[in-house]
Amino acid sequence: MKTVIIGGVAAGMSAAARLRRLDEYAEIVVLERGNYVSYANCGLPYHIGGEINEREDLLIATPEHLRDTLGIDVRTGHEVVSIDRAARKVEVLVREPSNGEEEEVYAESYDNLVLALGGEPVLPPLPGVDHPRIFTLRTIPDMDCIKAQVDAGARHAVVIGASYIGIEMVEALHRRGISVDLVELQDQVMPLFDREMAAGLHYHLEHHGIGLHLGTSAQSFSDIRGRVQVSLANGTRLLADLVVMAVGVRPAAALAREAGLELGTRGGLKVDANMRTSDSHIYAAGDMVEVIDTVTGEPANIALAGPANRQGRIVAENIAGRDSRYGTTQGTAIVGTFDMVSAITGASEKALQRSGRRYRKVYLHPSSHADYYPGATEMHMKLLFAPDDGTLLGAQIVGFDGVDKRIDVLATAIRAGMTVYDLERLELAYAPPYGSAKDPINMAGFVASNLLRGDVDFWYAEDYPGATADALIVDVRDEQEYDEWHIDGALHFPLVGLRSRLPELHKVARGRRVLLYCTVGFRSYLAYRVLVQNSFRGVATLAGGGLTFAGYHPSRLATGRPPEPFASHAEDAPEYYELVGNA
Ligand code: FAD
Repeated sequence: MKTVIIGGVAAGMSAAARLRRLDEYAEIVVLERGNYVSYANCGLPYHIGGEINEREDLLIATPEHLRDTLGIDVRTGHEVVSIDRAARKVEVLVREPSNGEEEEVYAESYDNLVLALGGEPVLPPLPGVDHPRIFTLRTIPDMDCIKAQVDAGARHAVVIGASYIGIEMVEALHRRGISVDLVELQDQVMPLFDREMAAGLHYHLEHHGIGLHLGTSAQSFSDIRGRVQVSLANGTRLLADLVVMAVGVRPAAALAREAGLELGTRGGLKVDANMRTSDSHIYAAGDMVEVIDTVTGEPANIALAGPANRQGRIVAENIAGRDSRYGTTQGTAIVGTFDMVSAITGASEKALQRSGRRYRKVYLHPSSHADYYPGATEMHMKLLFAPDDGTLLGAQIVGFDGVDKRIDVLATAIRAGMTVYDLERLELAYAPPYGSAKDPINMAGFVASNLLRGDVDFWYAEDYPGATADALIVDVRDEQEYDEWHIDGALHFPLVGLRSRLPELHKVARGRRVLLYCTVGFRSYLAYRVLVQNSFRGVATLAGGGLTFAGYHPSRLATGRPPEPFASHAEDAPEYYELVGNA
């Protein structure tokens, strides 16, 4: 049996290598249009930034190595230009590696064909977008071009698009001493996250000198003495030595479409559970296929390396005669922004709203490890779950240390269909340098379960000021904290001494709802328990406290302190939280 694989990176090479391990006698041909296979495209920004010094470290395997170790016939510089499904042949255009000139066209037959063409960076058709100093980043040659500009002494760069690749490029360029402006159409960076969770990143990026241009877009590009002038919709003009366009990736589905294969509703190639396309001899995997979102159950295009690798493996298993099924993609992802780490798994709140799914949410700001052990930093967690049975729907974490392990626990929990009650019961590794006896994951379970069991009720920052106008907002922190900042219009009833002032609070409340808050939500929860057990009605505590509130509307804090939602970097965190009150 002969298997031809188009595309020799994540999904394609996973399929090829797995197929060889399962079938020593399979004929396997990999056709890759570029000059490299099996390279680490996730590592490209880090070579530009200088963390990965050696370019060769990104080249995980050469065609020769793959031939010698796995017996795979890997042909670089081979672009497939059409698929003849009836004849089970592909047409291959061979290019000369050094200059890209066409050398020959030939037909390659197959018994099974695997499409692993990946995605294509979106390049909006804006005036001047073909300027030679405007780049996208997908391949080794793309990286080489950008790095050449940086090495040649570029001083100012504009990055357009503030998702993962854009953010990684901002940091890489900044590390190389380049001043960077970041432009994003949405009013937040990391658009897959909910806005209040990205708010800390805004502060953090600005703290590192990155120019943020949110809620606006590049309209046109023009040449000014060899440099690029970027004109934004809001009238701003930025002059750059290089521009990186990172506005998204679309599935590379043209070849499949031309071959008459069925596409999904989102433009990716449609595959069944076995990663088989509408042609039973053709499989597909990676960024080019449409997947089903684990939480919403809706079709989605999710371009991530983990799913691409696993799908490639599943393709091979099916070709080898097994019944191997992929399932769904939940979009677990993580990105570093200087020393701040942002991670997400499952659905965001906006995705749940779009899909009309009912949910509840909690926020918490636990420490990365025991507070008394040096170096603890706060992390900011948001947990989304089903209101009826507490099934986990999504999580976002922004912080410094320990974000990666918590998001992976939550990703596993979502995959396993676990509930917030299960999080309460998880037994996780603990010693003071690594965690807490009540790990942030347990804490998230406690807070969410308290809500579902009726032990606490929350009010939310987005309710303010509209839906809170008729209520009494009460700050329960101490006097110094209240003086430093408080929510506009909030009265001050510190937790310490609250019990003795209950009659006074009753009198001021006059039957109105009492909306409590503190810095992170713990002291206001204690106050909540005091009030509801003293016949107060309509009491709620601010979810996530002032820190989450600041992520929604910093300008609504009457403040003597900067209203940054999160500490600017790891070293600042303990001091910052001491200052604002680490409840
Ligand atoms: P690719 O890896 O893109 O491979 C597709 C290959 O097909 C390409 O080499 C292409 O040349 C070839 N090809 C296309 N058309 C043809 C044709 N007609 N004939 C022959 N060959 C063809 N994901 C993460 O999970 N974490 C990260 O940190 C992360 N960072 C990233 C950083 C960057 C800069 C980039 C670009 C991507 C990053 N990703 C990350 C995404 C991840 O790399 C992709 O999801 C993954 O590589 C997709 O694998 P794939 O096999 O579908 O496509």
